[in-house]
Amino acid sequence: MKYLLVFAVVLVAFWVWRNDRRQEQAERQPRRAPPPPPAPVPMVACRHCGTHLPQTEAIQGAHGWYCCAGHRRLEDPPA
Ligand SMILES: [Zn+2]
Repeated sequence: MKYLLVFAVVLVAFWVWRNDRRQEQAERQPRRAPPPPPAPVPMVACRHCGTHLPQTEAIQGAHGWYCCAGHRRLEDPPA
């Protein structure tokens, strides 16, 4: 009878441990795929004022990159 009680306690402990593991795995799965970091964008310096800005926001002139159309006009006057 004593061994039956020990066996029952072990069985309950195993069942509780298994339920805990299942819950942890269910909680972990949605968090497994974090959003990928944004792709790096090259930085360029304005030829007139030296301000660094992403290349996607810079304006390209004949001699280099500029932060705005005004600086491009000052350095790269249209011929
Ligand atoms: Zn500038």
